[in-house]
Amino acid sequence: AKSQHGTNHFYFTRGLGVEIRERVRMMHALRSGFARGQLYLAYQPQVDLATGRAFGAEALLRWRLEDGRNVPPDRFIPIAEYSGLITEIGEWVLREACAELVRLREAGHVDFTMSVNVSQVQFRHPHFLDMLRRALQDTGAPAEYVELEITESMAMEEPDLLAEMLAQVKRTGVSIAIDDFGTGFSSLSHLQRLQVDRLKIDRAFVSEITGSARGSSIAEMVIQLGRNLGLSIIAEGVEDERQAQILRALGCRKAQGFLFSRPLAPDELVSWLAVP
Ligand code: C2E
Ligand code: CA
Ligand code: CA
Ligand code: CA
Repeated sequence: AKSQHGTNHFYFTRGLGVEIRERVRMMHALRSGFARGQLYLAYQPQVDLATGRAFGAEALLRWRLEDGRNVPPDRFIPIAEYSGLITEIGEWVLREACAELVRLREAGHVDFTMSVNVSQVQFRHPHFLDMLRRALQDTGAPAEYVELEITESMAMEEPDLLAEMLAQVKRTGVSIAIDDFGTGFSSLSHLQRLQVDRLKIDRAFVSEITGSARGSSIAEMVIQLGRNLGLSIIAEGVEDERQAQILRALGCRKAQGFLFSRPLAPDELVSWLAVP
């Protein structure tokens, strides 16, 4: 038994070493990739479910390696957070998305909103508010057309601090959406105290919606909750017409997903918007 334990231990530490080395390697690659302009944004249209017309877009971060391969954000963002690099990258994302919003406005899309994902590491940085104000000022993006998406898991921690922070963010004029809503079990009394404008129903609940009656119950609950609290609701990850139909029937008015469009390059977004 002892030698077996020893063997397991050996494999365990070796496995862990490989994982840490891989993370460190990716961290260096990300840092130099960022410096060399390998990061860019894709924009996924957000539409009105009744008309199919886009009212805004979500900016999604992309990393293309020298050899043309793309690293998915679910793989590199945790590393950017873990290394603190997310603060710099997140600032770049916000500025880039704001600049794109201004370009869209100049192209005539004056009633268009831009949603930007904000990591909790970035959000908790002491200079976050200054950074936000500067990004708005320098790019000339109108705050009322900028929305920040924070995840529900972030909304669960330190409620008083978060409530105060969100109040300050709101004073800059930007709106706040809670992303992946329904996955974090945040308490409702807590949610009521936060100055948020919108809840995003997580893709997982949208994909369950066409199954059993129980499958749609979380989506239904979030829509009802939004109505009661006077919050806007958007469903993410809508892939087929049946899902869109059920969401409409449940009273959800906004959506985002492959049914409408995948995330697009800036010029693709402009062409997509031009099609009536
Ligand atoms: P998220 O914020 O929940 O973003 C939605 C994800 O769902 C995106 O994945 C999007 O491409 C994908 N998606 C959109 N429509 C559909 C659909 O109909 N079906 C399916 N199966 N997927 C759909 P992506 O771009 O790979 O991003 C993954 C996650 O990475 C994001 O999840 C977000 O948490 C994070 N992320 C992306 N960009 C940023 C960023 O700029 N900053 C931070 N902090 N996180 C980001
Ligand atoms: Ca998001
Ligand atoms: Ca989401
Ligand atoms: Ca999600």
